[in-house]
Amino acid sequence: MKTIVLYGKPVSEKIRLSLEQKISKLKNKDIIPKLSVILVGNDPASEVYVNMKHKTFIKYNCKSDIHKLSENATKDELIDLINKLNNDHKVHGILLQLPLPKHLSSQEVISFICPDKDVDGLHPMNVGKLFLGNPSFIPCTPYGCLKILDFYNIDISGKKVAIIGRSNIVGKPLLSLLSQNFSWGNATVTLCHSRTKNLAKITKSSDLVIVAVGVPHLLKSDMVKEGVHILDVGINRISDKSSKKGYRLVGDVDYKNLLDKAQSITPVPGGIGPLTITMLLNNTVEAASK
Ligand code: NAD
Repeated sequence: MKTIVLYGKPVSEKIRLSLEQKISKLKNKDIIPKLSVILVGNDPASEVYVNMKHKTFIKYNCKSDIHKLSENATKDELIDLINKLNNDHKVHGILLQLPLPKHLSSQEVISFICPDKDVDGLHPMNVGKLFLGNPSFIPCTPYGCLKILDFYNIDISGKKVAIIGRSNIVGKPLLSLLSQNFSWGNATVTLCHSRTKNLAKITKSSDLVIVAVGVPHLLKSDMVKEGVHILDVGINRISDKSSKKGYRLVGDVDYKNLLDKAQSITPVPGGIGPLTITMLLNNTVEAASK
């Protein structure tokens, strides 16, 4: 079977094109969408992600600023900053870059973000609305997964889907989204995690497998059926002396060995990744439009 590679770039370009029009309409009303990102500590990967987000917003004539707090920042300092951004009417979106240092609870801190500015869709009120089928902001990476399925006409209605990984930012929102009675949903979804027994039995009987774990090559060719669709959300750095940086990025899927067995598959890099920032831009433009 010739496998279709589900590249994120064309999907992202299509969405960005329509966002450009929305951004220029807002500009005519003197509204410039603005995202404020909060970065606590010095995690190198987080710094790279935050800078990528910043550059994208500037490129699309939106505003973005980065508020850096030290590794030892207290909960009160963080909440003071969030309150300041909540009250700044020029800020439309607030994003708390995760993970936070261990002494801070992301769930507790996120609950202080004004739900109307929670463009990552992680505030308990927005999570509740999503589960009730009335989403305000769909979390960016799951939103990217929906957009890829839609762009490549992968219809999951009535199909079996296995999601591996139960994080609040990927696995759990996807469970809700794909099982609901939406045009993009109506699947029968199984959420798998580190304690799941007989994972291969579940993935083998699934029409779509989505992996968001953070373990290179977790999903192997013998764990899926012929003709399966695969979305690989994982991003892992593995050492590679032949590369200038000394490492390369791989996903959670044994990509090479799945080519010719899967009907379609996202690559890493170049699959879901490019869509996450695009959906953040989308959610911030939506927040500004409201
Ligand atoms: P996480 O790191 O919070 O949690 C990992 C999940 O995997 C847990 O739910 C755990 O139960 C499950 N798990 C661990 N080992 C397992 C195993 N052997 N079998 C089955 N399940 C297992 O999850 P996250 O924050 O969603 O991140 C997962 C991966 O996705 C990471 O590689 C991360 O970098 C990547 N990610 C990518 C994007 C993107 O834009 N493409 C966005 C978010 C996360």
